[in-house]
Amino acid sequence: MNILIAAAHPDDEVLGIGASIARWVREGHQVSVLFFTDGVGARGRNTAAAKIRKKAAQKVAATLGFSIAGFGKFPDNQLDSVPLLKIVQTIEHAKKKFLPELVYTHFWGDLNVDHRLVLEAVLTAFRPKPGEKCRSIQCFEVASATEWGSPAAAFRPNNYIEVSAEDVKKALHAYKAYTREVQADPHIRSVEAFLARRALRGREVGYEWAEGLMQCRQLDPLPA
Ligand SMILES: [Zn+2]
Repeated sequence: MNILIAAAHPDDEVLGIGASIARWVREGHQVSVLFFTDGVGARGRNTAAAKIRKKAAQKVAATLGFSIAGFGKFPDNQLDSVPLLKIVQTIEHAKKKFLPELVYTHFWGDLNVDHRLVLEAVLTAFRPKPGEKCRSIQCFEVASATEWGSPAAAFRPNNYIEVSAEDVKKALHAYKAYTREVQADPHIRSVEAFLARRALRGREVGYEWAEGLMQCRQLDPLPA
């Protein structure tokens, strides 16, 4: 399977679906991650911080075993200042090269505007026209962005990916590469919360460890 992850910022991929990536790579699937902003622009123009974040993303890619489809150069926390078409075109470019069957991206109720717009652009780029190869679009949760969003669109998983303790360990190790993003406990982005979330999601459905998703679109496989 070719699995594409559309992540607004470097760190969303590991916070959202890092252990599942570890599992998929372990099982021999091809995973590619497309980023849209440098993740630091909101704190003022800081090219040094952007470089550190990019390096961390490359380290995470090496740890988890995914390829990077691209680092978008869109303004961080300001995707609403960019025509949606431009974001869609970035996804279409990656789509053409990678032909994903499964796509994972942000939840529609996230507080972060970049997250919501990436989802919208994904839905546009993968419209279910006849012959569309993408069979599934699923939304992951991102610590802080998802819980702190409006309660009108609360994240309630209806799809769970069981992961191993080793997958979780690998994902946590990867997360720690984003040294500036990991927060001291008690914080929803702490190491403790990273583990607790996966333990809780697992227990919701009788697994030891899992990552939770909300299904956005699911189609039957294309006939062989
Ligand atoms: Zn983000």
